[in-house]
Amino acid sequence: MENNPYLETMMKCSRCGACQAKCPVYAELKMEPYVCRGKLELLDSLKEGKVKWNDRMADIFSTCLLCGACANNCNNGVKGDKIILSARQELADEHGVGFAKKSIFHLLLKYPGRLNFAGKCAYIYERGGLRTLAHKTKVLSLLPGSMGEMEKMLPDFNSRSFRKKVGNKVSPKGGEPKLRVAYFTGCMTNLVNERIGQAIIDILVANRVEVLLPEQYCCGVPAWASGDYHTARELAAKNVTNFRNLPVDYIITDCASCYSTWLDYPELLQDDSLKELTAKFIDINRFLVDVLDIHFDLPDDGKEPVKVTYHDSCHLKRTERGREAPRELLRRLAPRYEFVEMDLADRCCGSAGSFNITHYDLSQKVGAHKLDSMLRSGATILTAACPSCLMQLSHILREHKELSARHTVELAYECFKEEEERKAARMTQVRLAQEKRAQAQKNGPAHVKKSVAKKAEAKRKAEVKKYGLIEAKKRSKSR
Ligand code: SF4
Ligand code: SF4
Repeated sequence: MENNPYLETMMKCSRCGACQAKCPVYAELKMEPYVCRGKLELLDSLKEGKVKWNDRMADIFSTCLLCGACANNCNNGVKGDKIILSARQELADEHGVGFAKKSIFHLLLKYPGRLNFAGKCAYIYERGGLRTLAHKTKVLSLLPGSMGEMEKMLPDFNSRSFRKKVGNKVSPKGGEPKLRVAYFTGCMTNLVNERIGQAIIDILVANRVEVLLPEQYCCGVPAWASGDYHTARELAAKNVTNFRNLPVDYIITDCASCYSTWLDYPELLQDDSLKELTAKFIDINRFLVDVLDIHFDLPDDGKEPVKVTYHDSCHLKRTERGREAPRELLRRLAPRYEFVEMDLADRCCGSAGSFNITHYDLSQKVGAHKLDSMLRSGATILTAACPSCLMQLSHILREHKELSARHTVELAYECFKEEEERKAARMTQVRLAQEKRAQAQKNGPAHVKKSVAKKAEAKRKAEVKKYGLIEAKKRSKSR
């Protein structure tokens, strides 16, 4: 632990136990080694040579969400999550990360083409009838442990990579863009949530923002959180190379985990000059609210607004305006949506990168802890600004169809579309009115002439009746 940059904060731990009250893992396991204080005690023993890294220690240190609740609740400024992460690095350096993780990190994450292929295979499994067959034959129940249950967590994969589908650049039509951004889609939007990606591009382009989608790699968080910071550094360095010299005003992302990882790139790559680049990074919620100052011109249609609540992703809430911007965006969706706050909004959902795969049962218990507050909120839509949290929350809500989990941007997109449709309808009305006026102007003189002639004829007939035909002619001539 000598090289641990957070060692100094570790020394400040007074063993007060305040972190225990907020630790979601401790709330489920009720065992001291699983809370921050217990882990720090173990690290002290490790430093003093009283214990060594072994399977039990590896289990304890891997059983942490890195949610940061301990650090946020520590009056002594101990950075519990960062210390645990550093301990994982030491463990991985000494003992590796295990065969499965190593294979995924080294054979998949480093190769975007292979990741895309894996996504395609998952899509074929889901849509090609294999998944239906697996569920009908109950073959999944033969899988070891909770793997059968975990399979239900699989999201709907895109038919092909979102970035490939969209291309490298999307520009507003006609004229210069007012802003230019690069979009770091993250693996989830690229392989799973294309509707989120498309919503973002459509909103931005309509607001005269040009969107660049350069080649990109996994942000590195799955490897880093597992202690494999060599792979994380490699991926980070490749992303930096691809984004560093882009002529853009901002770099946006819809994934809280990618965002927070990018903000940590200067620390990961030990390069402070990267702060200039990461300063351009901005979460899509904050970009829409603070940079574009987006508003939706929607009239009250007399219908009850749909109640929507919000889950704070651990990764987003600790960034600048990370708590406020998504809520502000949701408030701007009135009168179609009404934002309602829920209890425990900022409690970790248990997703924590790959924690919901490596510790499925525990992660479900952590997530279920929030279920009551979600249902009690009275909302019918639960939003989040992180695709990983959404995957976890959708799975937790699978038995509760009265509440669906969606990205904040998806709701913004619905309002944007309604506004666009209204604008188009208004323009059609204006065009039709203009056409009618033009036609009236064209027909106007003939119509007037006709009416004058009609009046003259009526007058003539009245005179004939009054004075007789000859007299009437005379009167007409004398006029
Ligand atoms: S980490 Fe902080 S909150 Fe936890 S026991 Fe130590 S001083 Fe107390
Ligand atoms: S980071 Fe979260 S899960 Fe890990 S010890 Fe701290 S509070 Fe517990």
